[in-house]
Amino acid sequence: MISTQTPVCIIGAGPGGATTSIFLSKQKIPHIIVDKDVFPRDKICGDGLDLKVMRVLKHIDPTITPETIFGKQPFSRSWGTRFITPSGYYRDIVCKPKADSPFQYPTFCVSKRFNFDQFLVDKLDKTYAEVHFGTKATKIERKNGGIEVTFEKEGNVYKTFCNLIVGADGDHSVVLRELDERKIDRKHYAAGLRQYWKNVEGIHEDKLIEVYFKKEYPVGYFWIFPLPNNEANVGFGMLSDIVSKQKVNLKACMRDIIENDAVMSPRFKNATPLEEMKGWGLPLASRQKKAAGDNYLLVGDAASAINPVTGEGIGTAMVSGFVAARFIAHAIQNQRFTEDVFKNYDREMTRRLQSEIKNFNFFMSFRFEKWINWFVEVAIRLPFMSQYFAYQNRNWLDTAFNKPIEVNI
Ligand SMILES: Cc1cc2nc3c(=O)[nH]c(=O)nc-3n(C[C@H](O)[C@H](O)[C@H](O)COP(=O)(O)OP(=O)(O)OC[C@H]3O[C@@H](n4cnc5c(N)ncnc54)[C@H](O)[C@@H]3O)c2cc1C
Repeated sequence: MISTQTPVCIIGAGPGGATTSIFLSKQKIPHIIVDKDVFPRDKICGDGLDLKVMRVLKHIDPTITPETIFGKQPFSRSWGTRFITPSGYYRDIVCKPKADSPFQYPTFCVSKRFNFDQFLVDKLDKTYAEVHFGTKATKIERKNGGIEVTFEKEGNVYKTFCNLIVGADGDHSVVLRELDERKIDRKHYAAGLRQYWKNVEGIHEDKLIEVYFKKEYPVGYFWIFPLPNNEANVGFGMLSDIVSKQKVNLKACMRDIIENDAVMSPRFKNATPLEEMKGWGLPLASRQKKAAGDNYLLVGDAASAINPVTGEGIGTAMVSGFVAARFIAHAIQNQRFTEDVFKNYDREMTRRLQSEIKNFNFFMSFRFEKWINWFVEVAIRLPFMSQYFAYQNRNWLDTAFNKPIEVNI
């Protein structure tokens, strides 16, 4: 049975929805959270967890370290990035702390979403969260100053009335479709493929995540993100505008890189694919878009919260969940659920992405695709790149592990 009434109903229990629920529970706010899938479940992704993820996890449990976070979950610690330029030049940026540094933490972790999302869902607090998996939201209607949600679970139909609905249901959000409008703007949307592989050769001993800017396919990259047990998440993503203009067949290109590219193919000679290539979309945060309205808030991909420069959306989804929970508490305290209560939500949700959004839009306004190869080649070869990253890395780690996430309502 699903309760017929609740103050808040969250649709989707990926990183955005699970985080919203965890922080609602911390504020003792009862709510329902549903997901159409049963966990653990797969999600097409690069599986790269950046320091924003760590930052939110620190707010879930301040005693957390990468080891205590994941416990026995298989994950890989990555101590930096390997950039491979269009000409095939390798630049390894290793940010391993000195033995006496207070920050003995990696820049990235890589964990299959099958495991990571389960890890987050295990943190849902059932004192306040009524959790229903295998439950799909099929209809969302405005009624009596609130929202009526229709669910399907094991062949049964249920209805719940709520004051506020949270759309945490990813790129194809039903909440966005029914309460606002889902419109894809290809200049602010990317397409990505993922394929798990075993025994890819030449992976750095510090498990660097690898990003290869292939000459023929600008505004996108091919990646290898190392996982435990000699496995790797291999993928390829590109801005949809370029995919469409250049009529790129993403799967054929990725296959071509793995089989024929002079830089990459030797590393795949003795490797084995563990699945077919799988694709999904990435709604980027570079487009100005409303993420809240009367009786609803959107988080994560539903709110187009993906970093437009890197394609990272797990951390930004979790930050948006954290921010949303604070706005929801404010709305409940005032018993008002209208758009004006959430007028600053978009600003607070994307606050930590402002420089990436500005840079992305600035470069794209100059038809970046024309000269990106040159730019990448020069930028990555700059002699002080390693020092720059080492310096930034210290700041990122400090922010991730020591700075509270501020929310100005
Ligand atoms: C190829 C690719 C590679 C990527 N690589 C990275 C990376 O390395 N690092 C990174 O940080 N980000 C990466 N991303 C982005 C990242 O995957 C997303 O930004 C992130 O998953 C967003 O989390 P979310 O909670 O908003 O949505 P999701 O993770 O998509 O979760 C949405 C949930 O809603 C549920 N749902 C959907 N519809 C309904 C419904 N009607 N009723 C009930 N439940 C529903 C789904 O089952 C799902 O569990 C990548 C994306 C792609 C496509």
